[in-house]
Amino acid sequence: MFFPTMTIAGSKAIAAAFRSVGIEARAMPPSDEETLLLGGRFSSGEECLPLKVTLGDALKVLVHGQVAPEKMALFMPTSDGPCRFGQYGSFMKVIFQEMGFGDVLLLSPTCADGYDGVSEHADELLRTAWRALVGSDLLQKLLLRVRPYEKEKGDADRAFAEAVDLLCAAVEVRGVPQKRKLAVIAKSLDEGRDLLNRVPADYSFPRPLIGVVGEIFCRLNTFSNEDVLRKVEEAGGECWISDVAEWVWATNAEQIRMLKRFGRHLTLSMFGARLKWHYQRKDEHALLDAFREDFRGYEEPHDIREIYELARPYLPPEGALGEMMLSVGKTVYLHRKGVDGILDINPFSCMNGIVSEAVYPRVSRDCDGFPVRVLYYDGTHVDRSYELEIFMDLVKAYSARKKTHRRLPEVMGAGAPRVVAG
Ligand code: SF4
Repeated sequence: MFFPTMTIAGSKAIAAAFRSVGIEARAMPPSDEETLLLGGRFSSGEECLPLKVTLGDALKVLVHGQVAPEKMALFMPTSDGPCRFGQYGSFMKVIFQEMGFGDVLLLSPTCADGYDGVSEHADELLRTAWRALVGSDLLQKLLLRVRPYEKEKGDADRAFAEAVDLLCAAVEVRGVPQKRKLAVIAKSLDEGRDLLNRVPADYSFPRPLIGVVGEIFCRLNTFSNEDVLRKVEEAGGECWISDVAEWVWATNAEQIRMLKRFGRHLTLSMFGARLKWHYQRKDEHALLDAFREDFRGYEEPHDIREIYELARPYLPPEGALGEMMLSVGKTVYLHRKGVDGILDINPFSCMNGIVSEAVYPRVSRDCDGFPVRVLYYDGTHVDRSYELEIFMDLVKAYSARKKTHRRLPEVMGAGAPRVVAG
C-alpha cells in the first residue's frame, strides 16, 4: 500500500499506522522532475496540480518496476464538494489500465462517511491513523517554530527527521491495547520535542508570523509549492500552517451536517459520527495537552465550526463548501490571534483559491488592512522571490502598526503580548 505524500511526516506516520494492523505500507518516494514529466504526459493539462503530482509519483513506482502492479495498492481517498479530487481515483484507474497497470488496487474511502470505510480493521486502524496524524502535525508545528531561529542551517530539519522516525516506530507497535499505544505515541512525541528544543536557536527577536492557508495538498506538499514556507523563513518570517487535522475535523463536521440535513438525527450513522468525534477529540487532547506551553499563542480553534462561523459574513457555510471556507474563516481567526499576514497557497485554476481571492479584499478591510496574498502553483518553476519580498514588506509595515498583538510562547521569553520586531 502506497500513500501519496501530502506532508512527508504525515504520509510516513499513516503508513506506519497501516503496518500496525499488518498491512505492508509505505510512503510514496519523494517527488522530483520525473514526477511532473510522467504526471503531465498522462494527463490533459486541465487537471489540477495535485493530480499531476500524485499520478506522476505512482507511475514512477510502476514504470521503474519498484513493485509489480498486482502487488500494489494506492491509497486515494475521494471527496465531494466543489473539487476535482473526487475524480482522481477513477481517472487514475483509466490511466493505469491504458498503460497495462490495471491490476493496481485503488483504495478510495470517501469523505461522505468521514472516511469510515477504510478496512476490516477500521476501528483500530482509524484510531491509530488519527493519532499518527495528530502526532505528525504536532512535529511539523514544532519544526516551523524552531527552524526560523536555528543558529546552524539544517539542524532543525535533522532533528525533525529523527523525531518523525521515533513517532513512526511508536505508531507501528503491534498488539498492544489502545491505552498503552496512546502512551507509547505520547512518549515518542515528548522525545521528539526534546530533539527539536535542543536545536541551538536564537529567539531574542520574534519574527513576523505568517498564517498559511489554502488548498490542502498544495499548501502542505513542499514539492508542489516549491517549499514556499522555507522561502518565507529565508525572507525573515515564521509560518503557522493549517494542518491536516483541520481537514479531518472539517470532513467530520460535514458528515454530521449532512446527516442532520436529511433528517437522520436518530440513526446509527449519527451515533457513529458522534462517537468518532468524541474519541478523536479525546485522543487529540491526550496528545496535545502536554504541549500547551510550547504552542502558547498558536492555539488552534477549539471546534472547526468556529472557523465556519468566522467565514459566514463572506461565504455562507451551507452553500460554499470546501476549503475556501476554511481558508477565509482561518484568515479571520489568525488575524484575531495577532498573526502578521496570510499566504493562501493553491494549485492554478483551483476554484477554492479563486473564490477566496475574490472575498479577501473585504476580509482584509474588516481586519484592519491585514495583508493577504494568494499564490498559485502549476508545476512550472517561477521565481517568486520578488513577490515574497513585497509581501514581507507589507507584513512588516502592518506588524509595526497593528492593534492585535500575538501572545508569545515561553521559549521566546514572554507571557505577555509583545510587538514583533519589524
Ligand atoms: S481543491 Fe482544487 S486543486 Fe485540490 S483537488 Fe480540488 S479542485 Fe483540485
